[in-house]
Amino acid sequence: MANGSVRVRFCPSPTGNPHVGLVRTALFNWAFARHTGGTFVFRIEDTDAARDSEESYGQLLDSLRWLGFTWDEGPEVGGPHAPYRQSQRMETYKDVAEKLKDAGHAYHCYCTASELEERRDAARAAGRPSGYDGKCREVTPEQKARYEAEGREPIVRFRMPDETITFTDLVRGELTFTPENVPDYGIVRANGAPLYTLVNPVDDALMEITHVLRGEDLLSSTPRQIALYKALTELGIAKEIPSFGHLPYVMGEGNKKLSKRDPESSLNLYRERGFLPEGLLNYLSLLGWSLSADKDIFTIEEMVAAFDVADVNPNPARFDLKKAEAINADHIRLLDVKDFTERCAPWLKAPFAPWAPEDFDEAKWEAIAPHAQTRLKVLSEITANVDFLFLAEPAQDEASWTKAMKEGSDALLRTAREKLEAADWTSAESLKEAVLAAGEVHGLKLGKAQAPVRVAVTGRTVGLPLFESLEILGREKTLARIDAALARLAS
Ligand code: GLU
Ligand code: ZN
Repeated sequence: MANGSVRVRFCPSPTGNPHVGLVRTALFNWAFARHTGGTFVFRIEDTDAARDSEESYGQLLDSLRWLGFTWDEGPEVGGPHAPYRQSQRMETYKDVAEKLKDAGHAYHCYCTASELEERRDAARAAGRPSGYDGKCREVTPEQKARYEAEGREPIVRFRMPDETITFTDLVRGELTFTPENVPDYGIVRANGAPLYTLVNPVDDALMEITHVLRGEDLLSSTPRQIALYKALTELGIAKEIPSFGHLPYVMGEGNKKLSKRDPESSLNLYRERGFLPEGLLNYLSLLGWSLSADKDIFTIEEMVAAFDVADVNPNPARFDLKKAEAINADHIRLLDVKDFTERCAPWLKAPFAPWAPEDFDEAKWEAIAPHAQTRLKVLSEITANVDFLFLAEPAQDEASWTKAMKEGSDALLRTAREKLEAADWTSAESLKEAVLAAGEVHGLKLGKAQAPVRVAVTGRTVGLPLFESLEILGREKTLARIDAALARLAS
């Protein structure tokens, strides 16, 4: 599709922390807008004062920026349909609700919660549909007077047409909803507060949204919105009914829907662990879509060039952290070294780094960075991989110590020290020869011979390539650490 008039929207509610499901929705909308040369509208659905917060609003903007999504209309950017925060559009909703009521598309419903519940239970018991039964569709002036005398405060309810609603979902194909499954629904609370059911389609109409791409959890609201849309069209408020596409569920652990309450769904977690935005977006794009069967790693530009909502797979997608990390590791490798070193910066200082700022050595860092770049899954792993360079003593991992320091390790370490002392410290190869030779003296292959050296010098059994690490750390410190290990072994 190449249609400059595509208008999509991303319209989260600022409640809680942004989660990966939300990011996937933003990504698909954004990619669709960019692919079609359309407009990406960012709208904040903050009509629920009890649940919305400024903090969460700030986080949403910050998250979109971190991900690299630019919006063509929305908060801080403005646009022809401003304001883009629903809390600033209350007059509009009030006005539309009035018009819907005046035209007979909506009515006052005086039923109390307990009355509704009673009738719902009775309907269920009789095997009838349990949604709203339409009782207040026709309220006589006498009834109305009586209700009001009783102090009842009505909600506004939308009158669903008594007809079947069919639409072609962009992802799922043709879907049909019969009237008994889509009862009349509330659009304004008794206290006058408009509900999501009203404000979301009203804004989609006023903002001339052409394609609504959103999670499958919202599928049941679509027939209602289509009916409301038709009413708005009749009133001259809406131009045309948008197309809808419902993105598949994302399943987490144990094949349960990933919920925003699951800790692994929090976007902040991925940021703090050092996912690259490009790695995370590459992974999230695979939740319901793919570039091609044999290409899992791609740039956002490649995704934009290829993305079409018609290719979204309706089946539930499984969130796989291991795969997300593997893809992120590939994106880390794709960075140029300078970019990589800059992106690691947050993890090379407090609160992540355990060394004092003055002990950080830029030259050592630049020397080790290329060796780290090919080995990290997430950037936060950098800290533990390079701490041996900046700490006065290695952060000794006791399990590593026990594993590496065996019977005879002291003899091996002594020989290794001698050979290293005599080695050429301008070449990692020479340091390798030294440890290899020490191993030969004790009948040990390189792997076995280097383990105690690595633990003595870095504090861990696993890490970056050892001989390059030693070379960068330097002769004096390496020898001193082997001495310290020998002293510990002797005590
Ligand atoms: N504010 C709604 C939500 O975050 C928007 C849903 C929609 O895309 O229609 O769930
Ligand atoms: Zn009622």
